[in-house]
Amino acid sequence: MIFKSAAPAVEIPGLDIPSFYIGASKLNSPSPDTLAYYDIETGESLTFKQLEAMYQQIGSGLVNKLSAQPGDVAAIFASNTVYFAPVLLGTISLGAVCCTVSSGFTESELEYQLSDCNARFLFVGVKQVPVVCSALSKGLLKIASSNIIVLKDNSTGNAKSSQVGFQTLNQLFCDKEFEQKRIVNDKEAASKMLAVIVYSSGTTGLPKGVMLSHQNFIAYTMQSATMFEYLGGKYCEELGIEPPEAPQRQIAILPFAHIYGLTSLVTNSIAGGKTQYILNEFSIERFLQALQDYKIQSATAVPSVLSQILNYKNIAKYDLSSLRVLSSGGAPLPSGVHTNIKSRFPVNTGNGYGMSETCSGVCLMGNYMFQPGSVGFIYSATEAKFVDPATGKALGVGEEGEFCVRSPSIMLGYLNRPKETAQTIDGDRFLHTGDIGYINKTGHIFITDRMKELIKYKGLQIPPAELESILMDHPLIADAAVIGIEDKQRNTEVPKAYIVSKSPATAADASTARRLCADAASWVAGKVAKHKRLRGGVELTDHIPRNQSGKILRRELRAKHNAKQNAK
Ligand code: AMP
Repeated sequence: MIFKSAAPAVEIPGLDIPSFYIGASKLNSPSPDTLAYYDIETGESLTFKQLEAMYQQIGSGLVNKLSAQPGDVAAIFASNTVYFAPVLLGTISLGAVCCTVSSGFTESELEYQLSDCNARFLFVGVKQVPVVCSALSKGLLKIASSNIIVLKDNSTGNAKSSQVGFQTLNQLFCDKEFEQKRIVNDKEAASKMLAVIVYSSGTTGLPKGVMLSHQNFIAYTMQSATMFEYLGGKYCEELGIEPPEAPQRQIAILPFAHIYGLTSLVTNSIAGGKTQYILNEFSIERFLQALQDYKIQSATAVPSVLSQILNYKNIAKYDLSSLRVLSSGGAPLPSGVHTNIKSRFPVNTGNGYGMSETCSGVCLMGNYMFQPGSVGFIYSATEAKFVDPATGKALGVGEEGEFCVRSPSIMLGYLNRPKETAQTIDGDRFLHTGDIGYINKTGHIFITDRMKELIKYKGLQIPPAELESILMDHPLIADAAVIGIEDKQRNTEVPKAYIVSKSPATAADASTARRLCADAASWVAGKVAKHKRLRGGVELTDHIPRNQSGKILRRELRAKHNAKQNAK
């Protein structure tokens, strides 16, 4: 059975991203001098007028100074910054492709991604300069130093970067005309033209480049706007009140490199004409202080942030009266946290479900017909089906199966991986999410399990295959498997490793076994971004359960872990 959205349909225009978003911001922002971005840490800001001028200077600089061509890939490796949006728009305005890199990546993670997407240019945040310098000095990057642009001027980080020949953004800026790749009333071109690559491990294996078109972004923006309006309107109708004005002041704590932060960057700020207050170094105190100081009206977070808010004892110290929307997404939101937030804060509490491969959200639960723990209703212009993973049969209401979605926001496919693309998007263009769930009679969707390998730490991806391959490189480890376990206190999943020692004698001696486990954890910590560390611990085992084709039987390991927990 195919389930259709109850929200009104949307007509998606055949435009390129810069034309659509800049056009929308002109309609939706009070004036060109409205702030689009403000960085709470550095005080840097950009108005909508400056954003438009800057993206064109970047596009022109890439073409006229660095000879960029349509189809080139420019990666951005930076913490959240006011320059993210101008780089994104500047790159794609000339028909090039913008690839986002997680800001905490180590040299080897950076090397993997830049070589996988064949990046020709690299925009680097000041904090990331040392990683890039070190990767270059070890010969890990193919990009020429002159094609590396640091995203800030007059900073100490730049002293080092200029020595190795990097450019600054100011040096790149150019006012000369350049040929912008405009798409005008051409849906076919907008749906085919690649704009952005984000990385996701999908259902299995190593991170893959998720190819998103101009149309994917525009569709998502229109679908989510329609969805918010629809659900908000229904709720106000129920209460008999006029819909309030959309929140203008938002806090940006989600990484712009991840699809959830990236679509928030373009959908809310640029298209919505709203101001995003960027907070990079997250702590619950800094977050609450910022909500109060900047009179934030809307905050989009991940479940662990919501539970930190609930558990924070001094919350009454802060004036949060401006807050009207507090939503969660990117990872499972426990129904208790969902209900508590709703009852303790007089705000619209959201739970959004989506994926990199669907260009962010495809389901949304607001206050309308609130059901705790549900990811809500499918977006406008989106269809859903639930299939039995064993037989492929489409299931009915209340029956649990793999959640599949069809929407104009679904990716073009995985970069250079036709096999994995075909395994993920079926012949009817339904994307198989790898998540298990069901739809009830009222159209609420519940995600109950995950059949894919992916582990999510505070909304960020941890591909087990990546950690397993690092563990297998350890000289004393014969085999390894990584599973996600629940950290109930922090309301997130964390990765736990099972390892098999090359020496059978290890298990016989408890202190040798402990040392190997500790060594394995620090071995991984030295090679990956902080969010991928083995926070769930390392356990020595005599074998890793695998099926006949060698696939790790993660369910067995999860059962083993749960049995041990229950025995405690
Ligand atoms: P990503 O591509 O990093 O956004 O990860 C997508 C995956 O995160 C989904 O396939 C789900 O497994 C998980 N996810 C995202 N949002 C939710 C949610 N609201 N509830 C449960 N799982 C979620």
